[in-house]
Amino acid sequence: MSDSYYKIEEMNGYYRIGSPEAVFCYVIVGKEKAMLIDTGHGYGNLKQVVKSITDKPLYIVNTHGHLDHTSGNAQFEEKVYIHKKDMELCREHTGKMMREQSVERAMHSVNYETQEEYNALPDKFDKENYINQGTGNLVEVAGGQIFDLGGATLEIVETPGHTQGGISVWYKEKKLAFTGDTTGFFVWLFAPETTSREIYIDTLNRLLKLPVDFYIGGHNENVMTKEDLELYMRAAKEADFEKGQKFESFANGEEEVRVCALDGKTLDDMFEPGFAALVITKDK
Ligand SMILES: [Zn+2]
Ligand SMILES: [Zn+2]
Repeated sequence: MSDSYYKIEEMNGYYRIGSPEAVFCYVIVGKEKAMLIDTGHGYGNLKQVVKSITDKPLYIVNTHGHLDHTSGNAQFEEKVYIHKKDMELCREHTGKMMREQSVERAMHSVNYETQEEYNALPDKFDKENYINQGTGNLVEVAGGQIFDLGGATLEIVETPGHTQGGISVWYKEKKLAFTGDTTGFFVWLFAPETTSREIYIDTLNRLLKLPVDFYIGGHNENVMTKEDLELYMRAAKEADFEKGQKFESFANGEEEVRVCALDGKTLDDMFEPGFAALVITKDK
């Protein structure tokens, strides 16, 4: 099948599904079963794309409850595993109001690298159907839980920070960890659902101790190494709100949000090597 909205890439040990939604979903195929990590905004027919990769029984895991990782859940009959601390967040984020807002934003998406505006919705987008889809078949998952796909062992690791119930999926045989939005050069730690900075730093330590070579994020084009995580750790420890740069986004609340980048860098340096920032409110 071909659905030009989604782009499937075969990576080293997993499939990456990219799209104009600007968030990646991942598929791991074992000898007996398969796993889908995150379901994106679900504007396009993700289910069809996943079925084109594998017809094996499917586990679905949400790295966290945010709408850009969970809105495709409802396309699937399968259970969707999510940490209990993010369940309520997921229900809110996949509800009608948030879906309506997300569709409005999608029509005026901005490529942060080129600053170009584009419409992220597919050609035949059924808005009425989309906004009423709901949450999907959520079930709880916790740290230590193991999914055996047959030759592919995946363990859930609790990685709170960006959200209270953030989890990562550790693929033992391939020494990979899928971290959602937990790790990256631009970590949002300002919304009410985020944890304290201390808890986020503990999470980075936990991830650094895992015997993995690469960390794979929800929005990062490139895989991350331990060296990258050390950089994010330094950014987390050194972030000083007073020296930060004002930041506006759809997710901002009442309080001012600032980008605190390492080594005096600013948003203009965002795509340069060595850029790492924590995006916080004063109380963080
Ligand atoms: Zn997120
Ligand atoms: Zn995200």
